[in-house]
Amino acid sequence: MKIDVLTLFPEFMDRGLHTSILGRACNNGLLDVNIVNIRDFSDDKNGRVDDYTYGGGAGMLMQPQPVYDAYMSLKKDKKCRTIYVTPQGKPFTQKDAVSLSKEEELVFLCGHYEGIDERVLDEIVTDRFSIGDYVLTGGELPALVMIDAVSRLVPGVLGNDTSAEIESFYGDLLEYPQYTRPEVWRDKKVPEVLLTGNPKSVAEYRKAKAEELTKKVRPDLYEKYELRNKEIDRLLKDKRNNIQILESLRRGTGEIIHTDPLVVYMACDDLVMVDIDAVMDVDEFMALLPDNIHSIVVSKEFGAVLRNVPGMMYSCDVYNYVYTENVHRKIKNKDIRKLDESFADYVGNKYALGGYDYAVERLKAGVVYGIFVDDEIAGFVGTHGEGSIGMLYVDGKYRRRGLAADLEGFMFNRDLEAGRTPYGQVVLGNEASMKLQDKMGVYGGDKVLTWLHM
Ligand code: SAM
Repeated sequence: MKIDVLTLFPEFMDRGLHTSILGRACNNGLLDVNIVNIRDFSDDKNGRVDDYTYGGGAGMLMQPQPVYDAYMSLKKDKKCRTIYVTPQGKPFTQKDAVSLSKEEELVFLCGHYEGIDERVLDEIVTDRFSIGDYVLTGGELPALVMIDAVSRLVPGVLGNDTSAEIESFYGDLLEYPQYTRPEVWRDKKVPEVLLTGNPKSVAEYRKAKAEELTKKVRPDLYEKYELRNKEIDRLLKDKRNNIQILESLRRGTGEIIHTDPLVVYMACDDLVMVDIDAVMDVDEFMALLPDNIHSIVVSKEFGAVLRNVPGMMYSCDVYNYVYTENVHRKIKNKDIRKLDESFADYVGNKYALGGYDYAVERLKAGVVYGIFVDDEIAGFVGTHGEGSIGMLYVDGKYRRRGLAADLEGFMFNRDLEAGRTPYGQVVLGNEASMKLQDKMGVYGGDKVLTWLHM
């Protein structure tokens, strides 16, 4: 990810960005950080960048010209998300961090003194974020806070990509208390259950502790958690048709933004999903959509209405399929490997539905697996941004050998090991895939879902 920072205090940013995990990410090329000193663009012979505010008031304000020229020096050919950190912005949350982490480039603008002339902000800024209800002396710390939260979600920045998934704020719960060696410290013993080696008991204990803590210190969050559980129970009654929403709530990647009817937002995929049985008022629905929404999944009936909204593009109609058996699938061909970007051309050119760029994005996310026969790649499968299994492909010369079933079974097993319900979607009319799903013993939906893009 490329990050440009516009600041009056480059040394402050430089130190923060080149330390610890962020420093390592910069060194190994996962982050490409460019710090620009706004003062270098001052027209004033003394390098002045601020002046008194019109209309009076205490303090100085940063002038528009140096900020604008500093921004223009970045020579952005398209308008990338340019973030002004300000107490007047919307509160920055983990959900925003997830959404920003999928951008290829970001620009951060740090204010100082009383802030920045509004005219240049209107010209270059796309997002305004506050890191909390207090006032700091400058935007460098807020920019560092945001860059840290965003960067650690970029694949590869944390050694272990799953560790970001099980922390505070996923699924509306704070993280449970944790312990390391020694087992006894100042007469305080590590809770017994954590020493049992029983993953089920450990998981139950941690969940109970996370609930207890959240209820005590963040009742607002706990209320959201209870609502999530209530909706999960309701959706379970029609699991096969609601699995996409159900799993997003269970995995903690979806956030409820409306109830009755249920509307769920997934920041990780810029996606909004509506209850399969709902047809909403279009204006009411459009007003709910967060910025940067890319995809919408609704019932076929509601899709038919939304297709008339300007800027909305129909993508496809699908049925869900859910693997409800809690038994691992047997895999005949065991040579299945995670694919990296060196397979971009192979996967990108063969995955027609999503296109080349999407295939590369999935490879970068580390969720595409290839099946090999005699060390030669024969096909692949992947996970879509919202969590469904898909992108299934087997080369013509390797068909009718059960490789597609092996690839899909492999993905089922991965989900089961992670405690998730495996599911996917079949585009209407894809007879080969329908046949495969029958063979895999999945539970197919009987209601059609429509995907739309904006
Ligand atoms: N006059 C401004 C106000 O009352 O909202 C405060 C300006 S503050 C002293 C200077 C700069 O620090 C701001 O332009 C902004 O970039 C940054 N800043 C201060 N507090 C912040 C916060 N809570 N979140 C994000 N940025 C903040």
